[in-house]
Amino acid sequence: MTLLQGKNALITGGSRGIGEALVRSYAAQGANVVFTYRSSAESANKIVEDLSTGDQKIIAIQSDASSYAASEELMKEALESLGTIDVLINNAGITKDNLMLRMSEEQWDQVIEVNLKSVFNLTKQAMKPMLKNRSGSIINISSVVGVFGNAGQANYAASKAGIIGFSKSIAKEVGSRGIRCNVIAPGFIATDMTDALDDATKKSYTDAIPLKRFGEGTDVADACVFLGSDMSTYVTGQVLSVCGGMNV
Ligand code: NAP
Repeated sequence: MTLLQGKNALITGGSRGIGEALVRSYAAQGANVVFTYRSSAESANKIVEDLSTGDQKIIAIQSDASSYAASEELMKEALESLGTIDVLINNAGITKDNLMLRMSEEQWDQVIEVNLKSVFNLTKQAMKPMLKNRSGSIINISSVVGVFGNAGQANYAASKAGIIGFSKSIAKEVGSRGIRCNVIAPGFIATDMTDALDDATKKSYTDAIPLKRFGEGTDVADACVFLGSDMSTYVTGQVLSVCGGMNV
């Protein structure tokens, strides 16, 4: 089944973790994909090599999602390669955890810029081609932490909650032009980001998840295939949690 045949997707942070699963799933469903990375060139090149087997275009571009100028340049390059953009997935994200008393201004600024400003940067760039097509799907990767909060992650939670307000506003602003904007809120997904947690913390989180496991990147990617495909043409402004049922 190829749910994304003929669609052109731009995915940020595709070199590892959830982003890598997104790129691989989108390619498997027939999409042409431009994806970005910040520093993992080797991993990005390996993904391109693995997926460049047929006629599909799979292209990796080094680009800092937090930079407005870099995002402008990225969209220019993506449009030169793909012609247009049907699906934008804002996935790039980082954590800089600390309790509020110890959190530095730099930790706050970095997380807001990479996680939230990046979503503004590329959504703005995607408007032109999507308005021209009167069609498009924007998928923003938030987190359950943006919905429920988490001690030690005030910067991260604020960035992820900001993504939700932003996305609901965009859905209202451009719905009449055929452009949809939705949010995925992953729970705990097994990637480098969560590998940093100690074993006791991982166990306490697993105990609190009704499905009793961390998710895989493919669990998030499957939901993003749905939202990027024509299976979801009447779905916009929604937050879909992919979290094994956890609600704390
Ligand atoms: P990850 O394994 O740490 O991978 C992060 C990806 O983002 C990498 O491809 C990285 O590129 C890229 N990236 C980081 N900063 C960037 C920047 N400034 N510009 C462009 N790309 C950048 O993280 P992950 O766990 O897959 O998380 C992906 C998204 O899901 C993030 O938004 C995260 O907040 C969200 N999320 C994750 C979880 C989870 O449990 N893992 C839960 C909820 C939400 P390099 O490889 O070059 O560094």
